[in-house]
Amino acid sequence: MKEKDRGQHAEYMMIYVCSTCGLDSAFTETEKPVCRYCDEPTEMKLISKEKITPELIEKRLKASTERMLSNLQSAFESMTEEDKAAFGDQDAEKEMLLLLAKAKELKEKIAQLKLEDPDQKQE
Ligand SMILES: [Zn+2]
Repeated sequence: MKEKDRGQHAEYMMIYVCSTCGLDSAFTETEKPVCRYCDEPTEMKLISKEKITPELIEKRLKASTERMLSNLQSAFESMTEEDKAAFGDQDAEKEMLLLLAKAKELKEKIAQLKLEDPDQKQE
């Protein structure tokens, strides 16, 4: 049995997909959905609504590190001479590789993460 409705305590995670860039972002029902990837307001379509559980948070966390890593990787692969020049005196490739290594490390840490819901133990 659970205590109900303690003010603005969020209970659901709603996933919206942006109609402009096609990427999805998660919000709780108390938040206003705004695309996290577009700079301007876009139309956000609700694609799923799930009760917030540790498993769900874990799933989202893993999905977003996965995405971050692949974004970094493709940024690295598509780096132009101009991009490299922006690093100034630093070695652009070396800096990017360091960043990638850190992102991979983070991803591995998150992959090992096990979140537990104390309420669900008895089920
Ligand atoms: Zn967008």
